[in-house]
Amino acid sequence: MYYNDNTIVYFDGNFQKAREASVDLYGQSLHYGYAVFEGIRAYATAKGTRIFKAKEHYDRLRFSASVMGIPFAYSTEELTRITYDLLDRNGFSDAYIRPIVLCTPNMSLTKGKQSQLAITAWEWTNGYLSNQMRIMTSGYRRPNPSGFKVAAKVSGHYVNSILACQEAKDAGYDEALLLDIHGNVAEGPGANVFYERDNVLYTPATGNILPGITRATVIELCSELNITVVEQQFKPEAMRGSDSGFYCGTAAEVVALESMDDVPFTIPWEESLGYQLQQAYKAKVLEMEYAAAIKEA
Ligand code: PMP
Repeated sequence: MYYNDNTIVYFDGNFQKAREASVDLYGQSLHYGYAVFEGIRAYATAKGTRIFKAKEHYDRLRFSASVMGIPFAYSTEELTRITYDLLDRNGFSDAYIRPIVLCTPNMSLTKGKQSQLAITAWEWTNGYLSNQMRIMTSGYRRPNPSGFKVAAKVSGHYVNSILACQEAKDAGYDEALLLDIHGNVAEGPGANVFYERDNVLYTPATGNILPGITRATVIELCSELNITVVEQQFKPEAMRGSDSGFYCGTAAEVVALESMDDVPFTIPWEESLGYQLQQAYKAKVLEMEYAAAIKEA
């Protein structure tokens, strides 16, 4: 599903066949989830293949490695260049890119001595998620910021995401909504969250969430579209039954919420602020004018 006999990956300084690349069974990353990674999208735009927000993603990868004490010497420019090369070698345009920084053998609980960079990519032609999601407030809380570097994208954190996502799916929902340790709304297992009330958007302030690159893009778009957005902590009761809501993330893009804990959002998606932002986001990633993107939608 992710690769075949011809797929090329970048691993430890070389381009090679995905089937021929292998990681060490004695590595810290495998045993302790001590690795950092990114999820990046490339889009086929009218001007050619474009990696969306490459700088922001690779700056975050370097930040994640740095706060975790993982040695990682690549520059953002180098990483971007390698990634365009990787897409080209595979003939990919619309793609999902997954770089990961892995630590070499070390079974002790001390920081990484050396790292290896792997960049994998696969074609991503699903288009935009048009389905509206039914979410449930999870019994699992997001990791405590006193115990984890929550602003870093660390492999081990995703055990929490898997627990919450599977719990929601087992209960018949599309996705989970996790609270922080104080009981405020935090985020989805792999996306940030916004809700709308009385023509104003609200999203959890940073501190207990992964500060998403898509979240930042949405906030930028709000200022372009004259939409008021408030970053603050709030309880699930403030969001449940509000006018509209959406999740956003590199993979999810901007995706509508239908209901939260079976309580529907009240206005039709097409009339929501989220809908405007969904169109504006589409235009942005495709480097199109907003008006042209709306016409095509
Ligand atoms: N929160 C979590 C927990 C995530 O995994 C992601 C996806 N990286 C996001 C938020 C959204 O981040 P971004 O917009 O940078 O993809």
